[in-house]
Amino acid sequence: MSSSDERVIPIANESAVRSLPVPQTGAVRRAGGHWLDMRGRPLRDLRISVTDHCNFRCRYCMPKEKFDKRHAFLAHTELLTFDEIYRISRLAVRNGIEKLRLTGGEPLLRKGLEQLVAQLRTLTTPDGRPIDIALTTNASILKKKADALKEAGLDRVTVSLDALDEAIFQGFNDVGFPAAKVLEGIEYAAGLGFKVKVNTVVKRGVNEGEVVKICERFRGTGIIPRFIEYMDVGTANGWRMTDVVPSAEIVRLIAERWDVEPVGANYPGETASRWRYADGAGEFGCISSVTQAFCGECSRARLSMDGRLYLCLFATEGYDIRTMLRGGATDFEIEEALGRIWAQRNDHYSELRSLGLAPERAKIEMSYIGG
Ligand code: SAM
Ligand code: SF4
Ligand code: SF4
Repeated sequence: MSSSDERVIPIANESAVRSLPVPQTGAVRRAGGHWLDMRGRPLRDLRISVTDHCNFRCRYCMPKEKFDKRHAFLAHTELLTFDEIYRISRLAVRNGIEKLRLTGGEPLLRKGLEQLVAQLRTLTTPDGRPIDIALTTNASILKKKADALKEAGLDRVTVSLDALDEAIFQGFNDVGFPAAKVLEGIEYAAGLGFKVKVNTVVKRGVNEGEVVKICERFRGTGIIPRFIEYMDVGTANGWRMTDVVPSAEIVRLIAERWDVEPVGANYPGETASRWRYADGAGEFGCISSVTQAFCGECSRARLSMDGRLYLCLFATEGYDIRTMLRGGATDFEIEEALGRIWAQRNDHYSELRSLGLAPERAKIEMSYIGG
């Protein structure tokens, strides 16, 4: 579609990511106010990565040997402006998106993020309901930003915290950032009335021992921990299947300590399977992308900070929306393009991985596409 289709962005030094041209022809499929993909899956959820920078170097995401000073981070002019993000979001919400999640990189490093939240807060679904706006953060500066985010209208915060033990946590983030500070951010946000979840990536031989401690810490607080199977996102982290702790094992560990029972999903396409403590002390979740693929229900698209739309966490190529935005396309042209892109989606990487058929390719890094 334009010269930018040929542009290659280096990711994690050794792989590269290419743009796909936005399809100019093809049908848009709709049902119940949503765009549908080739497998009949509605688009309900947009994850927006607002920066590729991060102040952590989690070994499973941005290992420091790969994300060092030779790594080509994007220039500020490459980033979508808040007005551009708002415009895409407005058109998406008009077409059935109900949830927006701001992520990254570390989204709180994007200056003035609360201004974007305030802009997004003005959006409502076609039948007049407020949309759900969430943030995923490492919480390193959450305490400082939480009041402004609350004021701007953010609904929910998910904080990543892989261990309570300082040595283990600091080994994960690899910059010596204390777990105690992350906990301060969590408590502060919860105190302001945010709904808070905690994401814990579990890696074999590293932090299985933290699972029960994390449950213990958050039982009875209303804060929900979610244990995530370590995934083969990107190519930088050196993922091996033997590093994955299956969710079934996590549930077993927790059930050895407390009586737990499964709970149904909150909404169609929820990624986490939910469990509650029989004594009423709350719940926890497991995100089992590796051992129990949930592609059949996957209703998420991801927008990178430089305006590419990705249809799967394990994609290599994203559709270049920024060129349309900056090239004078009308709202109608952009909406039709988004609908056509979604109509062509057939992604189901995790299902293929479960069958041993995952394609070998230079997948996009998590810090670029957003978690
Ligand atoms: N920096 C923010 C944070 O850490 O919360 C937002 C971006 S981060 C990429 C989003 C989520 O992806 C985090 O909860 C992180 O733990 C998770 N994540 C990153 N790499 C992962 C991997 N290889 N497997 C599973 N989860 C991963
Ligand atoms: Fe940064 Fe989040 Fe990736 Fe950790 S998981 S390196 S905090 S983007
Ligand atoms: Fe969705 Fe892709 Fe994950 Fe499957 S592998 S659940 S299609 S993001």
